[in-house]
Amino acid sequence: MEWCVSMPKIELHAHLNGSIRDSTLLYAELSNLAVSFHSFSANTTESTFSWELARELGEKGSIVFSDVEHVILKSDRALNEVFKMFDLIHIITTDHKTVARITKEVIEDFAADNVVYLELRTTPKRNDSKAMSKRSYVEAVLEGIRSVNSVEVDLSGELKTDAFAHSHSVDGLRNGIGSKKIYVRLLLSIDRRETTEAAMETVELAVELKDFGVVGIDLCGNPNVGQWLTFLPALEFAKKQGLPITLHCGEVPNPVEIRAMLDFLPKRIGHACCLEDEDWKLLKRLEIPVEICLTSNIKTETIASADVHHFADLYKPNHPLILCTDDTGVFSTSLSAEYALASSAFGLGKREMFQLAQKAVDFIFASGRVNEDLKAIFASAHTRLN
Ligand code: 5GP
Repeated sequence: MEWCVSMPKIELHAHLNGSIRDSTLLYAELSNLAVSFHSFSANTTESTFSWELARELGEKGSIVFSDVEHVILKSDRALNEVFKMFDLIHIITTDHKTVARITKEVIEDFAADNVVYLELRTTPKRNDSKAMSKRSYVEAVLEGIRSVNSVEVDLSGELKTDAFAHSHSVDGLRNGIGSKKIYVRLLLSIDRRETTEAAMETVELAVELKDFGVVGIDLCGNPNVGQWLTFLPALEFAKKQGLPITLHCGEVPNPVEIRAMLDFLPKRIGHACCLEDEDWKLLKRLEIPVEICLTSNIKTETIASADVHHFADLYKPNHPLILCTDDTGVFSTSLSAEYALASSAFGLGKREMFQLAQKAVDFIFASGRVNEDLKAIFASAHTRLN
């Protein structure tokens, strides 16, 4: 639907490595493996990840080939299989140059879809073979943001100190190419495979980079892995430091963890697919905003189909919710496609969808003038589109 593309939108749940262009994965330079790969695509029924690449990685001991063989052959992957895909993607992308490149492209793609504010989340990674620390990983992400030149990028606080300034000032980014502008903020993710120490390192990094566009913390990764108590000290520390937190919550049935997460009072949660009645009531009473990822939930078979998705149960009583993409690359979607899907599945018209997009302004983690700017952008779009 054309109007879903043309209206301004806010994206609050997008994982960097899940949002890579197919074409970039197709032609990525595997300098460390000296292998080229082809035929990667999340939405074909053909082999979706190069056999050549997977075999070679298997031979090098980077992956267990038999573990991924069936995953790479299908277009829709169950949740556990999606995480195997991410392991493969990370092997290809975790070097500074590639991280900067995919960041730049992901921002350009969201901007082209008329996303005016993007909270991009990513897990800072250490990769000794590439001399990469969590810090240098995030620096590469920031470098990627600064290198965007097809659209004006607002990344907060760049001028407060010169630690990351290099040759790229905020004014430098406002280069006048095109009239579009996108606000980009980062959430640093803790992966559920990580230790308490690694989680703490991520939060400390986020605190340090608060003035450089980092606005919050996310807990993500395979929900069947890791224990809530492992991450709790780092999450509590983040809270004390004033960093807003969003949690992947209820992707699988886990009543004890779901209750602990809600009791923690995160600023937002993602998914909320498997909540029991009591937790559902609590979620609503606490009015915790939910990041809804329709295509992701359906493709991973967490939810059977759009028409039985809990979107409706939240939307009807006006519970705060935000439509999001999760992983545009892995699930072959876009934010406009998510709006179009919600519109057709739940019978919502242009007016309701615009209001939904506009309401998302209230749930962003960025503070200060951004909120006012976004309100003005939506007010002006309202006049233009009506
Ligand atoms: P990255 O953090 O490497 O930039 O983005 C990919 C990572 O995001 C994955 O390895 C995984 O930890 C997380 N992720 C992406 N999609 C999902 C999802 O649907 N659920 C959960 N729990 N984590 C996800």
